[in-house]
Amino acid sequence: MDTAQSVEASLDQLRRAVAGRKVEPICTAYLALRKAAAANAMDVSEVLLNADGVPSRSASHVIARAFSRLRCPMCQSGVMGCDECEGSGMIDAEKNCAACKGAGIRPCDYCQGTGWAPRGMIPSEISLSRVRKLQLTDVKKDVDRLAKIMSKALADKAERLSRKARRNLASMMIRLRARAGSLAEEDCLDNRKRKWLRATASVLDTRLTKFCG
Ligand SMILES: [Zn+2]
Ligand SMILES: [Zn+2]
Repeated sequence: MDTAQSVEASLDQLRRAVAGRKVEPICTAYLALRKAAAANAMDVSEVLLNADGVPSRSASHVIARAFSRLRCPMCQSGVMGCDECEGSGMIDAEKNCAACKGAGIRPCDYCQGTGWAPRGMIPSEISLSRVRKLQLTDVKKDVDRLAKIMSKALADKAERLSRKARRNLASMMIRLRARAGSLAEEDCLDNRKRKWLRATASVLDTRLTKFCG
């Protein structure tokens, strides 16, 4: 039967995507499977549960993780080029752009700088609290990663960093500040975690002002 085949074909696509461990293909394959399942009046989680060679528990984890890392379609990891200097960071040959303090970037309007896909791009059957918890894990890792990079960069003196290195660091700080700030608003996370997220966002805000100032 044609329709049943399309569920099977979508499952194959998903198996390949999961094996490839890349975010976008996994999300695309899952959305295709979901569509094929719906066309056959089947429930996508039932399909996954009964699929050969797809352990349903790990599949649901891999899928939730992929959606937790799905990118905002409007920007590059949370940032856009600064409008004032058209992303160059300079107003004339020597003067740093005042709007972006020479970084050449600003937070994306669409995702507010998180770089995450909007809520509407995450299928409703995937638990949002699960997605947010996975995002929190990533934020924690990035906070550690940033601390290591910063201590090295500041030891070298921020002014002496190349424009590209400054931009990368600023972009990471903008994104992480936005992520921590947005997760701090999520009711599904407990108060202790939200308090830490708020404090993290505020520390990053101060650092960013200092770094770019
Ligand atoms: Zn600028
Ligand atoms: Zn964006």
